[in-house]
Amino acid sequence: MTRDELKTRVYEAIDRRSEEIVGLGEQIRRHPELGFKEVRTARLVEETFKKLGLAPRSGLALTGVRADAGGRAGDGPTFAVLGELDALVVAGHPEGDPQTGAAHACGHNAQVAGMLGAAMGLLDANAFDHLAGRVAFFAVPAEEYGDIEWRVAQARAGRLEFLGGKPELLRLGHFEDVDLAMMIHTTSRPEDGKAGVPASNNGCVVKTVRYLGRAAHAGGAPHMGVNALYAAQIGLSAINAIRETFRDEDTIRVHPIITHGGSQVNVIPGEVRIETYVRGRTMEAILDANRKVDRALRAGALALGAKVEIETIPGYMPMTCDPIMAARFKTNAAALVGEEHYRQIGHRTGSTDMGDLSQVMPVLHPYVGGARGTGHGADYEIVDKPLAYLVTAKSLAAMVVDMLADGAAGAREVLRTARPPMTRERYLAFQRGLARREVYEG
Ligand SMILES: [Zn+2]
Ligand SMILES: [Zn+2]
Repeated sequence: MTRDELKTRVYEAIDRRSEEIVGLGEQIRRHPELGFKEVRTARLVEETFKKLGLAPRSGLALTGVRADAGGRAGDGPTFAVLGELDALVVAGHPEGDPQTGAAHACGHNAQVAGMLGAAMGLLDANAFDHLAGRVAFFAVPAEEYGDIEWRVAQARAGRLEFLGGKPELLRLGHFEDVDLAMMIHTTSRPEDGKAGVPASNNGCVVKTVRYLGRAAHAGGAPHMGVNALYAAQIGLSAINAIRETFRDEDTIRVHPIITHGGSQVNVIPGEVRIETYVRGRTMEAILDANRKVDRALRAGALALGAKVEIETIPGYMPMTCDPIMAARFKTNAAALVGEEHYRQIGHRTGSTDMGDLSQVMPVLHPYVGGARGTGHGADYEIVDKPLAYLVTAKSLAAMVVDMLADGAAGAREVLRTARPPMTRERYLAFQRGLARREVYEG
């Protein structure tokens, strides 16, 4: 059986399950859950794995679910096929959860449906008779780096260390026996075509900032107070003022939000809280920009005689995709969507914790279309379900065949040439070294 014949058989099996796969994607879309709280989605994944005869492990980094399927054509590398479980808070999204505000405005529901669909197609087609090595089907938590105050509280309570799903799974050793990994992210950008691979993604560090002033009567005795809001405003203006010092090639992004801006209108604000990322193409560029941002934040405190607490938390590492895996994906995807709809995507300035995995193993993070509207926006929706759900499933399954058929020749070639920049230990030490808390009295 050639690889192409096997792929055809797997695609046919996925087509036979198309209603079920789309149904899973739609069911997850209707019940969005925030990172590390994806209990309902995780349970659905676990049940689906069991129905497929797999033996899932659940509760990995709180909500992750992994099920392995071994190839029956010899030993070989382990290839992880991932799907991200989480949604994010999007004000005004028509399908948002009324309690949490969570909505699938980044298409992660399609990822999970695609991952489960790939498993269904490969198992139904008995593809594992022809594959060596092993596939780890893995639903992973919390790619969206938000809900920071809750996650910091979980970390303080010892339930988490890293605030993103894949870094936390790496810390807990759940990728210890994995050699290479991929996922497919849904895109709503017309310029991405129907399928494509990005050259790279920005990394980031995350910051929480607390300005402390002194509350006083805003009308009767403002002179007795120290206005933390004005201190914050000056700090934020200083950040805007340094933006032109960021080099274009570093694609720096700094985007703060004020999460608490005062207690009561007739009280001089004694405390203001801010969250922000500092993103960039390389860790060097990120750390340089972060140093400048800290100086700008201090300036706000100095101007008002306030105090500022600046906490820098490890975020996500920059991502690069493995070129051999990218070339195989291109061949499969172009055949599925048409060469004219395939795009080579440039550098992306958003961040993903796939970047963290890419520090320790070869990874691939392509995009497949099918969505419309603004990523993370209230108008985001999946409009082409066969593309978003079924092409994703087929493209993942085809990569499994390319990596693990013929005695896992494809995966062995990737591993022979890949040079991941870090070991898991080095990665953990590096990220832990980024964590910093500074208190500055103006
Ligand atoms: Zn997102
Ligand atoms: Zn996403």
